[in-house]
Amino acid sequence: MKANSQAFIGFAAFPLSTFTSDTAVRQVTTVLRAEQLKTAELLCLSNVLGRPRGGLPGYPSQERAADIGKQMQEFHVSIHGPYVISLTTTEKGKLRTSRAHMTRCLHIADAVGATHVTFHAGSRQGGTAVKTRVKERLLQIMAKAEGEGINAVPAPEVAGKIAGFGNFEDTCTVASEAGCLFCWDFAHDFARGGDVTTESGILRRLELIEQNIDLSRWRLPVHLSGIVAGRRGEVRHAPLEGGSNVPWKLFLSVLREQRFLDKVSIVCESKSEEANGLDFRVKEALLLKSFIESGRIEKDYQSAQPSLSQFFTSKTKDNQKD
Ligand SMILES: [Zn+2]
Repeated sequence: MKANSQAFIGFAAFPLSTFTSDTAVRQVTTVLRAEQLKTAELLCLSNVLGRPRGGLPGYPSQERAADIGKQMQEFHVSIHGPYVISLTTTEKGKLRTSRAHMTRCLHIADAVGATHVTFHAGSRQGGTAVKTRVKERLLQIMAKAEGEGINAVPAPEVAGKIAGFGNFEDTCTVASEAGCLFCWDFAHDFARGGDVTTESGILRRLELIEQNIDLSRWRLPVHLSGIVAGRRGEVRHAPLEGGSNVPWKLFLSVLREQRFLDKVSIVCESKSEEANGLDFRVKEALLLKSFIESGRIEKDYQSAQPSLSQFFTSKTKDNQKD
């Protein structure tokens, strides 16, 4: 048995909408099988509610989602919710739309057999009031979903922009308090200046995860990619070997040593300015897989851009807009 047999690795697979073709599904399942990748995130990023109009993608029917799920049943599948969702907003209309999308995504997630719906919680920083707001809204979403017999849970993602909700600690503890999951976007955590460039920083996070998330029920969702970081955090996603030098080898090494590889499910979200086709996404995911398979431990991390650290200590004003 290979040393990595418990590592679930995959990539952002395809948009899941009224337009999803069986060909698109088959392309992805074929390559996942061929490369022995185990995870796929299906993207509802720009889906609209109600009847799709003007060429915009809508949500697939429950039947269609179940059919796609059947084709992917040997994989660990998750859904990425639309960008319009905000649980930090103070606008009633926006909140109503956000809840409607969340409910829809959770139903679709259940139909495809997905464990969770990854989403960006919103564009405010994690002061106590904002954190409480996110927690209460998550609790309401969880209660509604449970009442409807839904097993999938929301998973707010660690935000890449410093002005976004939230940092690692806030996102992890808010998920714990709501009884759901969160998605540890490692590149986002890095871009907003989180302590992930040292082994001790990563260890502290693993400890927090074990204290707050029921790992006997779920694998913790992880996003991993390269990223370009700036003064305000994330600028854009990048290839693993590019951008601002995300310490992904250090990360995987610590996960291996702590026997954490079988407690996470890693979705590679690398992007390139040249090409983001299936080939590119597979190649990036395979970089992660082959590093794990190599059994290498690499812990000395040198930032490619030492000047970056000065951004991390500078105070950035909260962006209070949604
Ligand atoms: Zn992400």
